[in-house]
Amino acid sequence: MQSPHRPSLLRKMNVRKVLEVIQSQGTLTRADVMRCSGISAPTVSKAVSALLDAGLLEERETAEFSVGRPGKLLQLPRFSAQVIGVVLEWDYCSVVASGLDGHLHEDKLDRFKTPQSYSELIEIISGKILNLVEKEEIPALGVGITVPGLVNSNDGRIFLASNLHIVDGQSPAVDIASRTDLECVLVQKSTSLCLSEKTYGAGQSVDDFINLDVTSGFGMGVFTGGQLLDGQHGLAGEIAHITVEPQGGRVCGCGNLGCLETVATDLALTHYVSKRIGKDLEFEAIAELVKQGELDITPELDRTIEFLAIGVAAAINIFNPANIFITARLFDLRDDVFDKMCKIAKGRALQPSSSSCEIERSKGNKYLGAVAGIINHLANALGPRLT
Ligand SMILES: [Zn+2]
Repeated sequence: MQSPHRPSLLRKMNVRKVLEVIQSQGTLTRADVMRCSGISAPTVSKAVSALLDAGLLEERETAEFSVGRPGKLLQLPRFSAQVIGVVLEWDYCSVVASGLDGHLHEDKLDRFKTPQSYSELIEIISGKILNLVEKEEIPALGVGITVPGLVNSNDGRIFLASNLHIVDGQSPAVDIASRTDLECVLVQKSTSLCLSEKTYGAGQSVDDFINLDVTSGFGMGVFTGGQLLDGQHGLAGEIAHITVEPQGGRVCGCGNLGCLETVATDLALTHYVSKRIGKDLEFEAIAELVKQGELDITPELDRTIEFLAIGVAAAINIFNPANIFITARLFDLRDDVFDKMCKIAKGRALQPSSSSCEIERSKGNKYLGAVAGIINHLANALGPRLT
């Protein structure tokens, strides 16, 4: 028999629903929440109390001169509570604070070169988090950590990060939690970008969409039927390591040859341009030379676009999404790059799926992705999504 002290599943789902209504609509009165959620007044009232107690909502008075009986406004805390986002990448890592409304405190963004060892990585990040929390004296509700790799969602261990091998087999959320005493969650980078699009971006009103991040790896996050596609261990939607060059392909970080990730990303383009000119250049340096008219990268760029379009067409065929949001810096290298890639992808995909799919550049960012990761984790702890 269920304990009378344990909230029922339905009550938990209602709490989650109230939070989601305020996440998507912004500042609301209790009456607005009732209208938008279709939940009864007493249930909204209980849900709001639970969210205020958990620090996930804050309440303020309406403006003094408003007409009628003054009511209280409910909103996500911007400065009275914070969450921390940690972005792990092969070249640079970042730590940033944010309000629960997704307002990044960018003046506190700390970006630093990725350390050489895992232990150093954990020490440095834990120190920076504690610094942020202690300096601000604002309660921190948790830490979202993103990594461009395969994360086992059951135990938070990284199976493989093909561009950042120091974290292979490690559990950074567990290690950082033990040093900071904060709730920490590890999320695959592409999943976090997907969550950020759903929580704060263009995906709010869309049930079927895909987020592709092709800056270093070829990361894909999928929302289908309003739910994040997870799979048995949280690895579903992994497209980076399908073989597209079975003959003569480059060695991938996963150990195979000719994976999509080795030919269809900003990092792949950087590799091929550097190889031709015989000099290791970073993406920014290549972009600058192209802008000055001192370097022609047409062959490498066109080849990268062709492979990127293969990945996009595969995603359209397999998941039949309404939207695909893509993060890639190579779209900035020439005016026609994005349109050209879309045209090739749509031409390759099955017509019934591609004709109803909108391909757009993602407006989310990696910091907001890490923040969305912890906010989604805290919301999951409240209860499952009411659909
Ligand atoms: Zn691979």
